Amino acid sequence: MQKAKLVLKTSAQPQTIVHLSETVTVGGSDLLIVGGPCAVETAAQMEAVACRLATGPIQAIRGGVYKPRTSPYDFQGLGIEGLKILASVRDRYGLPVITEVMAISQIEEIAAYADVLQVGSRNMQNFDLLKALGQANKPILLKRGLAATIEEFVMAAEYIMSHGNPNVILCERGIRSFDTYTRNVLDLGAVVALKQITHLPVIVDPSHAAGKRELVPNLAKAAIACGADGIIVECHPEPEQSVSDARQALSLEEMVNLARSLEPIAQAVGRTIVSGTGNVPRFSFV
Ligand code: PEP
Ligand code: MN
Repeated sequence: MQKAKLVLKTSAQPQTIVHLSETVTVGGSDLLIVGGPCAVETAAQMEAVACRLATGPIQAIRGGVYKPRTSPYDFQGLGIEGLKILASVRDRYGLPVITEVMAISQIEEIAAYADVLQVGSRNMQNFDLLKALGQANKPILLKRGLAATIEEFVMAAEYIMSHGNPNVILCERGIRSFDTYTRNVLDLGAVVALKQITHLPVIVDPSHAAGKRELVPNLAKAAIACGADGIIVECHPEPEQSVSDARQALSLEEMVNLARSLEPIAQAVGRTIVSGTGNVPRFSFV
């Protein structure tokens, strides 16, 4: 392992707790459960998501507005319109929002609306982007590259931290292998290792790892059991209608049930799950 001066644990370095909002944190004893669609599609879709998830033990919402799609002909995201939708549900339901930043030119705009900026797998080694995010005043959710070693993952986080941003959350989301049954292979060994060698929060994305919704709940449980600080899971009001990653999306009901089912596992490993904000919108939408 190369010298990662800021990311690696030292005896003097306490565990990092990252604040997503005034009340939502990750890295402490409370687990972070994030739910939401792959992509923000419409205001009504996000309203349905936030309204349901706010009542469950879910603390933050995800949704991409700039989407890294394999095909340039596929839906690329709503951009600024999507950011406004995210900020609107955040303000009304009290759930911080996470969205992906793909380019340096998007940082300022996204930071004005979102609470956490996600670096997707395909950009984990976009070093100029990582350096620029070191200057951002928002937490960064750094996803492991499609075929990145643990060392490369740690060094990518080191780029962000060494450029001034201490608020980095690591996310294991599966790595490429030979098997095609699952989309990727969820590397829980990396989660255990990262918790041992770094002081940063480590969360798990079982959705992009599995690629199949029926595998997601048990992988989420395994993630919490092995010491992850949280999970980020894709869900949708009408999973089959999702414009992207439909096959792995849970229904909102399944998402809430999954979050509730983590309770005994959390207890067994000495973690707590904060109940939902239960917030009702402060004014009606549209
Ligand atoms: C996503 O979270 O929507 C995403 C594209 O994930 P990843 O970068 O892990 O593929
Ligand atoms: Mn997705």
